[in-house]
Amino acid sequence: LPDDRTADVATPAMAQFIEIKAANPDCLLFYRMGDFYEMFFEDAEVASRALGITLTKRGKYRGEDIPLCGVPVHAADDYLQRLIALGHRVAVCEQMEDPAEAKKRGSKSVVRRDVVRLVTPGTLTEDNLLDARRSNYLAAVARQKGAESAADCFAVAWADMSTGAFRLAETGAAALPALLARIEPRELLAADGLFDDDELRRTFKAASPAVVPLPRAFFDAATAEHRLADFFSVASLDAFGSFTRLELTAAAAIVAYVDKTQVGNRPPLDPPARESLGGALAIDAASRANLELSRTLSGERRGSLLHAIDRTVSGAGARLLADRLAAPLADPDAIRDRLDAVDFFLAETTLRARLRRDLAGAPDMARALTRVSLDRGGPRDLAAIAGGLKAAAQLAADLRDAGGAGFEIDRIAQGLEAAPAELADRLIAALDDELPLLKRDGGFVRLGFRSDLDESRALRDQSRQVIAALQQTYAETTGIKSLKVKHNGVLGYFIEVAPNYAQAMTSEPLNRLFIHRQTLAGAMRFSTTELSELEGRIASAAERALAIELSVFAELARTAMEAGGAIKRAADMLAALDVATALAELAAAEGYVRPRVDDSLTFRVDGGRHPVVEQMLREEGGSFVANGCDVGGEAAGKLWLVTGPNMAGKSTFLRQNALIAVLAQIGSFVPARSAHIGVVDRLFSRVGAADDLARGRSTFMVEMIETAAILNQAGPRSFVILDEIGRGTATYDGLSIAWATIEHLHEANRCRTLFATHYHELTALSERLPRVVNATVKVKEWRGDVVFLHEIVPGSADRSYGIQVAKLAGLPRPVIERARAVLSELEKSGGNNAASMLDDLPLFSLARQPAAVALVETAPDPAEAELLAAIDALAPDELSPREALEAVYRLKALR
Ligand code: ADP
Repeated sequence: LPDDRTADVATPAMAQFIEIKAANPDCLLFYRMGDFYEMFFEDAEVASRALGITLTKRGKYRGEDIPLCGVPVHAADDYLQRLIALGHRVAVCEQMEDPAEAKKRGSKSVVRRDVVRLVTPGTLTEDNLLDARRSNYLAAVARQKGAESAADCFAVAWADMSTGAFRLAETGAAALPALLARIEPRELLAADGLFDDDELRRTFKAASPAVVPLPRAFFDAATAEHRLADFFSVASLDAFGSFTRLELTAAAAIVAYVDKTQVGNRPPLDPPARESLGGALAIDAASRANLELSRTLSGERRGSLLHAIDRTVSGAGARLLADRLAAPLADPDAIRDRLDAVDFFLAETTLRARLRRDLAGAPDMARALTRVSLDRGGPRDLAAIAGGLKAAAQLAADLRDAGGAGFEIDRIAQGLEAAPAELADRLIAALDDELPLLKRDGGFVRLGFRSDLDESRALRDQSRQVIAALQQTYAETTGIKSLKVKHNGVLGYFIEVAPNYAQAMTSEPLNRLFIHRQTLAGAMRFSTTELSELEGRIASAAERALAIELSVFAELARTAMEAGGAIKRAADMLAALDVATALAELAAAEGYVRPRVDDSLTFRVDGGRHPVVEQMLREEGGSFVANGCDVGGEAAGKLWLVTGPNMAGKSTFLRQNALIAVLAQIGSFVPARSAHIGVVDRLFSRVGAADDLARGRSTFMVEMIETAAILNQAGPRSFVILDEIGRGTATYDGLSIAWATIEHLHEANRCRTLFATHYHELTALSERLPRVVNATVKVKEWRGDVVFLHEIVPGSADRSYGIQVAKLAGLPRPVIERARAVLSELEKSGGNNAASMLDDLPLFSLARQPAAVALVETAPDPAEAELLAAIDALAPDELSPREALEAVYRLKALR
């Protein structure tokens, strides 16, 4: 965009555009022109590429064509959604007056325009821009620098503007990534100063697809309290609880950003509520990703735990379940309350089915209420609130007989009982059964609700009938049978005759009645005083009817907003009821049992299954082999050392136990024959690390960082799963690290641990460390092939069966046979002096393998040899990202 705003401006409209764009430099500007939003200059280029729409040009600026593209207003949501998904932010600039008004001020005058809203990923409210089953969090991070050598302290506030949920937590620097990973903010705000810190910048980037640096003023501790009090229209924040200055700063940044993006409109945010992180099961970001709780390592929902257990029937229920899964509890009493509810609904099958049917029909009240509050709602949003409240009343009645079925159900029933039923009745009385999307054109207030509205509508409609009757009268008066009364936007109502009646119409006596308006090639048009009067009556009646409808809407909206707190509480209870019944449905359908959760350090699962793999296997027609696990103890946990060949089911076993702990602690039944879990305070999982090239770390480095975190943080109440530690380095290094890690876990951390490894040497540790237990996955050998039984049994694997697995994977037969020969020689020598011993072994010769003859008969290609040598020289674990990239170029050049 040209930076000199005043010079060489082609038109006043362009000057206006440039000024508004300059005020919103980080947004694409949707500039309203009639029925289109238009974009200019660079915005047009960006948007046309992103949306695949035509880029044109209009007018000139400083001698250059002005690039332009546009989207029709009625389809704007669609385009907005695509731009937001691509990470853009959009400023919507509307015409603030009728173009006619502007004309009155003079021919050069431009229509007044203003930005009415910034559309950003974290501040969406429209159903078609949002995923109904996912929360849409906007998060803000505030930092307090630690004095001298003390660590920095952080506060995170996060809000879902579409539902009003608003929460706060304080955390140290080390736990910040875990908290952000749990929230999964769609948009993340932080003061621009924080971006100087490389580590923080990376943390932010990893936590959210849209990270927004903001000026310091957004994070001003001095004005934070005042800003929040103003937003919530309260004199003091005391009623909301007591907060630290840092928490208030983060929360104030959220409301300041909401004010900025909503340009003065205020959504009904709940007062901020503090989350006590101590009451939750702590899961760090890497473990969360490894366990694939809400999405798989490749980013999909299918294959995640959430996808496998989600049987909710409403969007709000799905969002609550996801929230609960993101932050499992660590308080046995609170967990028990939730389990009681699931237990109750599991037994009450008929009631459960009825509740679920009613829940499925209940609209998403919280999101509708937000739109109404932001003056973005239509008649259907009011109807959604009515429908939600009606459903709440119905469900409260259904639950009445269930009184005393436990704390959670009582809490839900009470919240539903308190839903404002009169509001629902009032809305239903006022709103028609069939509703338009927008309030703009009226037509949504029910007949009989307001007598003055009915009168205006009758007048409007009757007058239309009178006009239709006039045609008959005029045809008789003039004797012109073909005379018609018509209507268009320019003339309004008029009388039309064929041109050959011109003479008669314009002379006595007809010219006393008919006033000439227009002559066209095929028609003459007239009006009459009577017709004009009628038309005026219709117009004013219609105008009046619309005004009444809009005032009805405004009043209903106000009443709804006043009842906002009760509406949201009812919405929350609908969601809680959906989750409780859905978990009962899950338990019934999948054969889950109620876990015993208490304060002990027990961890005993009988006949446990992996919730996701089990369902996937079933779809493929297979069945899952259940396995028990017992790593609990009185004062310290045990460490199960699981050995067995690749593909036997070690990882599956490790993960299934971690997932069973998570499920138990969100208050769900678990896939097992029985389970007794002493509540876990921290869950660690190091399973199959992916390369983290974006952070410039190799697999091995990532593995060691994550292992370090576990060794530094895990305690007796923690649950740890470690898979193939040390695999990423040379054998003896890896073995030694794994060895020392086990000793540390056993002696220092004393946590409940599952440790899978292919180093058989480690099994010797069970003789020296009392709480190390060897376990292995049973396999059967059958005619030289390996059959996986997936059954975990005491003891250690005698062999690794690598060659059999390689054969299953389809390695060529000659390679398999050669490997067998090498292996048997190695075993004979006991691994000593392997290289020299192998010298004696006849070299691998393809010539003896007829199937491969074609390969050796071609002379070796020197270029190929060079390429292979270059590949051999690479040591992936030691490369920096930059060196890796250079290596790729080098290899490419050798081609
Ligand atoms: P490992 O970690 O030992 O290499 P995995 O845990 O990745 O093995 O398991 C390999 C495959 O075996 C899984 O993808 C799954 O299909 C199957 N499997 C694992 N455990 C079981 C089980 N208990 N019952 C049935 N199939 C299983």
